[in-house]
Amino acid sequence: MTENDAAARSWLRPDLRESLPAYEPIEPPEVLAARLGIPPERIVKLDGNENPYGMGDRAIAALRAVPADFALYPDPEQRALRAALALRMGLGAEQIVAGAGSDELIDLMIRLLVAPGETVVVCPPTFGMYRFSTLVQGGRVVEAPRKPDFGLDIDATVVAIRSSGARLVFIASPNNPTGNLLSPEELDALLATGTFVVVDEAYMEFTGEEGSVCRVASGAPNLAVLRTFSKWAGLAGLRVGYGVFPHAIAEALMVVKPPYTPNTAATVAALASLEDLPALMGRVEAIVRERDRLAKALGALPGVRTFPSRANFVLARFTDRPAREVRDALRQRGIFVRHFDQPPVDDCLRITAGRPEQTDAVIAALTEVLHG
Ligand code: PMP
Repeated sequence: MTENDAAARSWLRPDLRESLPAYEPIEPPEVLAARLGIPPERIVKLDGNENPYGMGDRAIAALRAVPADFALYPDPEQRALRAALALRMGLGAEQIVAGAGSDELIDLMIRLLVAPGETVVVCPPTFGMYRFSTLVQGGRVVEAPRKPDFGLDIDATVVAIRSSGARLVFIASPNNPTGNLLSPEELDALLATGTFVVVDEAYMEFTGEEGSVCRVASGAPNLAVLRTFSKWAGLAGLRVGYGVFPHAIAEALMVVKPPYTPNTAATVAALASLEDLPALMGRVEAIVRERDRLAKALGALPGVRTFPSRANFVLARFTDRPAREVRDALRQRGIFVRHFDQPPVDDCLRITAGRPEQTDAVIAALTEVLHG
């Protein structure tokens, strides 16, 4: 570090000066391809839980038509999008807030509810953004680890919430990277602690609405549910998510949130996606079929155990070979999957359900690697 760097770094908040919390994002295909020296179209990208079919035809057409004036700021009240979502969900628009991905809403909920030094409970292994956003904002993270089967340890979670005086608990349902759902009984137990519960349903479209707690959220004063267009609608690159909140929280979110998210292009694509539900949900069904085919094929390989998933990915544990080695061997073949560094999933790979030919490719490669 140069003297100048050190001087500049001294401007960082004292709690961030020694080490900055980091979220490990995934890399785009052109970067992965350049590293391997192969064309980007040869990459089999199953590391980001993205939609292998891309945006819907209506979203593409809507963006091509440039129906909005991109020189103007979008509606800060998100009227059209909130109304369309309200109609779809059978809820009032005043309970819905959209953001630049659910990531933005996770960040905003922490900003709004958690003062520096206050606690957020997370249940690892789970989505890293809850921890990351809490630490960046000077909050304290208390972990209530999941059980060996990756179900919630509900008793330990309730104790963690109570003993830490947690302001907020985040539960992903289906959970990333394990694929399992939060049960209604578990939700009741969490709500009964009196803390604020955020259920992140980023993958719920792959489960079916019967797994969702959106209905409960429309009435409970300490529950919010987050959703996204990134997965089912294939809009991850446009960054558009939304949530159902108690009315007073939605109102406060609209006040503290940067005024112009989601941007105009994201809003146009999201609205068009809501008008393209039959086609997009047809793709969701195809992805679910591939998920199940992938899980079955993985389970038949030597030294591989899979966990039942309700999302668009499968978590597989490798018992005979280090998962990192398996990931590297797949990478050499142009196939990218997600490996986690930390126990209890450091011996696991998370593989996104792709198109049928991508499932074929990953199964063929794993068969070669594990039998070889
Ligand atoms: N929640 C979970 C559980 C996720 O896995 C992801 C994406 N990896 C997100 C939220 C973020 O979604 P978005 O693209 O809407 O920010």
